[in-house]
Amino acid sequence: VVTVVGSFAVGLTLRADRFPVAGETVVGRDFDRGPGGKGSNQAVQAARLGADVEFVGLVGDDDLAAMAWELYRREGVGTRYLGVVPGRNTGVGFIVLNAQGENFIVLDPGANGCLGPAHVERARERLAQSHVVLTQLEIPVEAAVHALRLARDAGVTAILNPAPARPLPLEHLALADVITPNETELRILLGLPPDDPADSLDLCHRLLAAGVRTVVLTRGARGVLVVEPGGVVEIPAFPVAVVDTTGAGDAFSATFAVSLAEGRPLAEAARRAAAAGALACTALGVIPALPRRDQLDALLAA
Ligand code: ADP
Repeated sequence: VVTVVGSFAVGLTLRADRFPVAGETVVGRDFDRGPGGKGSNQAVQAARLGADVEFVGLVGDDDLAAMAWELYRREGVGTRYLGVVPGRNTGVGFIVLNAQGENFIVLDPGANGCLGPAHVERARERLAQSHVVLTQLEIPVEAAVHALRLARDAGVTAILNPAPARPLPLEHLALADVITPNETELRILLGLPPDDPADSLDLCHRLLAAGVRTVVLTRGARGVLVVEPGGVVEIPAFPVAVVDTTGAGDAFSATFAVSLAEGRPLAEAARRAAAAGALACTALGVIPALPRRDQLDALLAA
């Protein structure tokens, strides 16, 4: 039983040979729209692994919201705590890809920006009955912190995927049992520049010193470090043919959460999560690339 507290947004993507300059119109092609948002992606990943998942989030009262309901019906994600905000638009991201595959993104959080402690409070019972609560920072920080606090008060494992990163006070970070940053997020969380040369392991130990039980540091193709006061376990990445790495972090955090909810030990959960992260890199887009349980088990058994 897993509960995800987070964001839903619709991605509107198109391709152009190059980005326009200010005031210029460039003709593009391959327009596509699809559901995204870190919380939503993670809820879908958890459902694909067979977990009992509820998604706590907000959409707007516009036609884009239909994409959320349809996605969750199709994927088997619970919507008892998915609310609609009157007068607000659904979260949306405008994404332009150039010929080099670089992107240019403008995001309007819309309804996600209205998610506050009061809305999370409505899911209190569900949070308390969960094995794992998983949240991210694509919603107001007060909502994420409240989810972590309710989990902690109920003795439920709380995981913070600190993305997109922003500096957070150590006492907020300490509410999480597990934090799953990548290397730039780790630095931003601690108020450092994203490319700060400090040793990542030292930075992980700062989080442990603040009261976080476990830091699971994701390092892209270099795999994962599971850092605890008692020691460090290194999990190598699974070698795969990479097509598009977007969504690797979402697949990772959700699979890690489901694996802990299944009662697996930390290192095994991190290994399963690394396999899911690798599989998420093997197809274009996020939702189409999130692996199902049989795909995950096949890679783990290979
Ligand atoms: P994010 O997408 O949040 O930046 P990472 O890139 O670290 O996160 O990816 C999360 C995890 O997914 C990694 O720790 C790794 O296990 C897996 N992963 C990511 N990129 C690759 C890759 N190129 N090859 C194999 N595994 C990968």
